[in-house]
Amino acid sequence: MKIYNTLSKRKEEFEPLEEGKVKMYVCGPTVYNLIHIGNARPMIVFDTVRRYMEHKGYEVNFVSNFTDVDDKIIKKAIEEGVEASVISERYIAECKKDMQALNVKEATTHPKATQEICGMLDMIGTLIEKGHAYRAEDGTVYYRTRSFKGYGKLSHKNIDDLQGGNRSLLVSGEDQKEDSLDFVLWKPKKDGEPYWESPWCNGRPGWHIECSVMSKRYLGDEIDIHAGGEDLIFPHHENEIAQSEAANGKPFAKYWMHNAFLNIDNRKMSKSAGNFFTVRDIIEKYDPQVLRFFMLSAHYRSPLNFSAELMDAAKNGYDRIVTSVSNLKYLLENATSDTMSEEEKKLAEEAKGFTAKFDEAMDDDFNTADAIAAIFELVKFVNTNTDAESSREYLSSLKEELVMLSDICGLLVEKKQEMLDSDIEALIEERQAARKAKNFQRADEIRNELLSKGIVLEDTREGVKWKRA
Ligand SMILES: [Zn+2]
Repeated sequence: MKIYNTLSKRKEEFEPLEEGKVKMYVCGPTVYNLIHIGNARPMIVFDTVRRYMEHKGYEVNFVSNFTDVDDKIIKKAIEEGVEASVISERYIAECKKDMQALNVKEATTHPKATQEICGMLDMIGTLIEKGHAYRAEDGTVYYRTRSFKGYGKLSHKNIDDLQGGNRSLLVSGEDQKEDSLDFVLWKPKKDGEPYWESPWCNGRPGWHIECSVMSKRYLGDEIDIHAGGEDLIFPHHENEIAQSEAANGKPFAKYWMHNAFLNIDNRKMSKSAGNFFTVRDIIEKYDPQVLRFFMLSAHYRSPLNFSAELMDAAKNGYDRIVTSVSNLKYLLENATSDTMSEEEKKLAEEAKGFTAKFDEAMDDDFNTADAIAAIFELVKFVNTNTDAESSREYLSSLKEELVMLSDICGLLVEKKQEMLDSDIEALIEERQAARKAKNFQRADEIRNELLSKGIVLEDTREGVKWKRA
């Protein structure tokens, strides 16, 4: 299995620190709002990496944090006149709902920054002791960036080039710094802000120290994979390396993985440009599985463009897999023979080739675009090589393969529960009543709810007809 390592800028063979185990840390969101679809990309991508590794037999310890103390959270809390924790807890709950809808597995541990202050005080203390950090007069603790020899190794930046670019910081109020490159580990409290006591001043942690500390606490000093969006490479991940390696005296993460940006209609997503979508906006219009499918339709290191047309194409693609699985189910229920014929044995063997293709794509730095292409080849094979004469053994072997590959991508393609005819008809009646009352929103909701369960409605002159997709 090869992974593109941002640190070495090349694909490397994956060799875990400990045989059969993977220690993986993914930077999570700052929780002050509903997550947007840009946040969803790393969640889906690295969940798929985890699923594939588990499929390969690794035991994955997956840690992803919530940043629950931050300027934006505090600002919102002041606006609403509530404690910062009210805001962060609200949006952690909402984020978890979205992740569940997108079939992102729960992390082994989901630490919150505010619960880890002790560890942060410890690490900052160690850094001061070792000469990598210092307290300024007002109580702010800064990391002494030039004291860390490897600074710039992840972002491939030369420390002296950074100096030139950052000079302006010296005149913007941070005049207590020894050097313009130094960054904050601990800062004094301001009025109305949450704060913790520390040996340096009452205050709160800087953002970078959080991840170094949570990664150490739940995974140890050395980990296999550290991941996040490419916008985190500099300065966040560069600073994490400087903190962790200076404090622990050991290399931090072996492999650094970064996903590329998500654009909307070929432009950068931004609220002011009016092209900003939360996950909630999208999954109200589409099955969440379609969004997941869309995110995986490109390689994670390629920029991905989001548009209504591309989502419609993703819907068609996803539906093709779902339809193929439900066809197999139908054939299985009605099959007349049990065991595979000689001819079917050969075909089943041939079909295993698609799993090999899928694995080959995933082994090459998690190329989900090619892996999904292999699923489509299997779908085509299934559709052309099965019929009412097929045996149960043969059909279930194909179904298992198709469901397994989809499941590695986290795509739910099997309807877990079939709806009863009476429930469907009750909903159709309710929809008719809603339409009569001109409550078209409710009518559409019902149509979509049924659709998500594989029930297609057709309005005909004789009334509403329905069928299972
Ligand atoms: Zn982080």
